[in-house]
Amino acid sequence: MRISEEHFLTEALHMQSPNADARPVSGDISLLVIHCISLPSGNFGGDLVSQLFTNQLPKNLPPEVSDLEGLRVAPHIFIDRSGNVTQFVPFHMRAWHAGKSSWKRRPNCNDYSIGIEVEGSLDQDYETQQYQALQKVITALFEKYPTLSWETIVGHCEIAPNRKVDPGPKFNWLDLIYRLSRDRDIGKLDR
Ligand SMILES: [Zn+2]
Repeated sequence: MRISEEHFLTEALHMQSPNADARPVSGDISLLVIHCISLPSGNFGGDLVSQLFTNQLPKNLPPEVSDLEGLRVAPHIFIDRSGNVTQFVPFHMRAWHAGKSSWKRRPNCNDYSIGIEVEGSLDQDYETQQYQALQKVITALFEKYPTLSWETIVGHCEIAPNRKVDPGPKFNWLDLIYRLSRDRDIGKLDR
């Protein structure tokens, strides 16, 4: 997997989201934010997630997700339970995924981050295919954007601790870091 000049993953499904705009500082990509989502919560495989990210939710929403109406959100990347990767926003653009947030006292993480949504819920283990997909995507990101490293990967819960808990306690950070450390960018671990 690699990233094109146009800042798209070459091996991903592409769906365009309007929920993005230009980064205030062009080329500033210095943080990677992991989220989880499932709609309705705990249900996997439906269309609601991609409909949410493209502002195409159906008119008659099930009551348990009716609060999504009017939301304008999108990550750069979504990884479903089978490890399929969909890109909604090219990486040089600012995707609207983090909301009010700060990292190392720097506010507005959307300005300088890449957002990855993993299909999941707070109380269920993630699938091996999802870690494999994350490994491929993040390794490609490391290669394209050298300001990123394993030290700049955070959960949404870390940059918005009073509002957010995702990707939750079931997300296996050690598994992810171990997978990344086996890749050729292991050198970055020595800093
Ligand atoms: Zn989140």
